[in-house]
Formats: sequence, structure tokens, C-alpha cells
Amino acid sequence: MSVADTIQRPAVSAGQSYRDVLGALSAAVQQPNASLALLLVNVVGVSKLQARLGFDTCTALLQALSDGWIEALRGRGVIIPLGDGSYCVIVHAIRNSGHAVLAGEKLARAADDAMSAAMVAVKPQLNIGISLFPSQAAEPEKLLRLAQLAAAAAHHRTARVLLFDESCAAEVLTPWKLGDAFAQALEAGELSLYYQPQVCMTSGRPVGVEALMRWLKNGKPVATPDVFIPLAEEAGLIYNVTWYALSNSFRMAAECAGLSVAVNITPGMLHHREFIDMVQTAAATWGIRDKGLTLEITEGGLIADFGQAVQRLKMLREMGFRVSIDDFGTGYSSLSYFKKIPADELKIDKSFVMRMMEDPSDQRLVETIVGLARQFNLETVAEGVEDRETFDCLADMGCTYAQGFLFSPALSAERLQAWLQRNSRDLRLRAAE
Ligand code: C2E
Ligand code: CA
Ligand code: CA
Repeated sequence: MSVADTIQRPAVSAGQSYRDVLGALSAAVQQPNASLALLLVNVVGVSKLQARLGFDTCTALLQALSDGWIEALRGRGVIIPLGDGSYCVIVHAIRNSGHAVLAGEKLARAADDAMSAAMVAVKPQLNIGISLFPSQAAEPEKLLRLAQLAAAAAHHRTARVLLFDESCAAEVLTPWKLGDAFAQALEAGELSLYYQPQVCMTSGRPVGVEALMRWLKNGKPVATPDVFIPLAEEAGLIYNVTWYALSNSFRMAAECAGLSVAVNITPGMLHHREFIDMVQTAAATWGIRDKGLTLEITEGGLIADFGQAVQRLKMLREMGFRVSIDDFGTGYSSLSYFKKIPADELKIDKSFVMRMMEDPSDQRLVETIVGLARQFNLETVAEGVEDRETFDCLADMGCTYAQGFLFSPALSAERLQAWLQRNSRDLRLRAAE
């Protein structure tokens, strides 16, 4: 029986297993002079589609899609449904890579036609990853693996059709590898907290610190927090990371009486069901006094589930903790949102502060934020203060605190202690030196 004869009319409701795919692929590659493409087709968000259209309508839509593909293949392929809107399509007599991509585009167009015919208002997205036999892989397992990598990369790039190449593997696997390494780093104690001083603009004295996480191996940074914090969130490790940040920050603050500490909280953590308990437990363990902890939450992160975010921030403030809106000005939230956020402080993003002496529009923006904060009885922290000129300009505007390389980068707990001992005086005098 030729492979072309094995066209199956997909029974969309019952997904077949990868073993079936491997069986069909083995049969296909054993054909004399076989030259084929494996297309892994994913209809994105099938469970949402089911919720929206109902199970029956969604099943009928998927059936219409695969019927359209059977027609488009004109007897030159096999379609194997894997369930949840994923399909393996084996296309024969592929002449070259361009030919394979054309086959993928044909399937995408057939899907469009089927969806138009079904009159679905919002069309689900489709990703098609392609691998080639024999030029890219000689064994069925590898062929399938390459098509999966291409489909995952297509999803990432929001491309509809993507032929496997090495960039797909790098794109899909590198974050995972880094994610695994991060999980090990957490276990192995490679994370540490550094503390960047915040200086009161009227007294010129250090009054607090922001805790910033570092991932160091043999004293050298492995990745920056911009990279590894999202990884921790994706890998489900943000609870452990936040607990680590809170407990270490509290211990440090307990050792430096009078110093307040600000800890960054991701939106996912704010909404975590155990977050409030976690903060309470850590504060009770280290005896943190009123207002000794500021929780920094990004403005953009509040919008997703605004109602719950507001409720939680209110609770935290009632418990005596301060709330700071981080990266203020970058989140595009409207003033109608802003006025409802229960906060104590606005943190002006360093992108504005660092440019404010060169760019008058950045300076006006910073001044507007400071003025807005004053109108709402909020304090302001300017981050990224790198020179005395910027500091003086912010002081004239009435900004409350400054943080930046003018005073110090983030320091290890030991170096912070030494820094604080050397710098307990008015730092404006030193900055003027
Ligand atoms: P962020 O909260 O906006 O933190 C300020 C960033 O600006 C820090 O980068 C800090 O080192 C840097 N910075 C401070 N002063 C200056 C300056 O004068 N000039 C310049 N060029 N940069 C300055 P860092 O430590 O790389 O952190 C990046 C981001 O990673 C943070 O941005 C924060 O969003 C996140 N992050 C860091 N630690 C944690 C953590 O423990 N938990 C969570 N959830 N996020 C963290
Ligand atoms: Ca921050
Ligand atoms: Ca920032």
C-alpha cells in the first residue's frame, strides 16, 4: 500500500498518539526515493475556542479545517490528528524547501477558507512547523522533533509557517536551558540580594535601600534580573524567589535599624493566593516595624486584574506596608486608573531621569510626575540619578528621594553596611566634592 493511499479522514475528537505518527512516518520514509515534509499544525487556543463556541461547534470547525486540508493536499498527504487542535501532516514528493513552505501556506489558506465558510468572527491563530526528509532528518523521531521546534518557534515569532533551521532550536531551547539552570542556581545558593541606597533629597542622608537580585557564579553574573525574573515566573519559581527576597531583605533591615527596604514584586506574585500570608510571616519573623517595607509594583502590572490588585494593595497598606508604583510613566495606564491605585509613592523610571538634562520633554515629564504625586499626597523616588546636575534639578522640583550611581550601585549586604558607616552624613556635600 502506498503512503498516498493511507490518507485518513481525521476523527478530530479522538486524538491519536505520537506512536501513530511515528508509525506513519516510518512507513512513509521507507518508500523508494521518499522525499517528504512533515508539517506540525497547531490551532492555537483550542480550549478557549471551545469555551467560546461550545464543544460541538468547535469540533465541527476543526473537522471543517481538516476536511479543507484533505482537499488541499489532493491525495499527496496523510493527516493525523493529535487532539487539542494539533495535527501531523505528511506531504509526499516534496522537491525542495520552497515547495514544502508552499504546502504549509496552502494548508494555512485552506484553514482560512474553512473558517470564513464557518463564519467564525474571531479566527483562531495557526502555527505550522515544517521539517524535511531526508535533507534535515533521516529518522522519524528526529523529523518529528524538528517540526515541533519549528512550530514552537513559529508560535514565538507569530509566524504562520516556518521551516526548521538552527535558529528555531536556539530560540525555543535556550530559555528552557536557562530556566533549568536558574532552578539549580536557586537550590545551589547562587542567588543573592544586593541593596541600592536611596537618599532623602532634603536631608541628603540615606534612608532606605532597594533590594535587587543577582545571579552570580564564581563571583560573575550569569544573567541580569531582567532576564531571570521572567524565567522564574515562567518556571513557577517566583514564589521561592520572592520569599528569598523578602526574608533576606527583612533580615538586612533588622540589622540596620531605621533603614527601610523596598522589594520588587511581580504582578503574578501580587495575585498569588499566598502572597499576603508570605509578607505577614516574613515581617513577623524579622520583627519589621511599621513602614519598614515598601513593595514595588510596576504600573503596567496592575492593569491586568485591576480590581484584585487594588484590593490586595489596600490590605497591604492596612497592614502597615508601603506601596510604590514602579517604572511610573512607562505603563500607559490612564489617569482614571491612577487615581484608584492605593499607593504611597511613585517611582520615576530611570529612562526619563537619565535623559532629563538633555531632553526638555523628559524633564517636563519628570516635573509633571512629581507635581502629580504632590497633588495626590504621594512621595516620589527618582531612579537612575547619575550626576549632581540631575540631583539638583530633581531637588528643585521637590522630588522626595533619589537613587542612582551618583551615590552607589547595588551593594552586597556586607558592603552596604560598610557604605552606610562611611556615608551616614549629608551626601550632598560628598556629591559636590
Ligand atoms: P527596577 O526595579 O526598575 O530596578 C532599577 C534598575 O536600575 C536596577 O537594575 C538598578 O541596578 C538600575 N540602576 C539603578 N541606578 C542606576 C543608575 O544610576 N544608572 C543606571 N544605568 N542604572 C541604574 P537591575 O538590578 O539590573 O534590575 C533590573 C530589573 O529587574 C529591576 O528593575 C526589577 O524590575 C527586576 N528585579 C531586580 N531584582 C528583583 C527581585 O528581587 N524581584 C523582582 N520581582 N524583580 C527584580
Ligand atoms: Ca524597582
Ligand atoms: Ca525602572
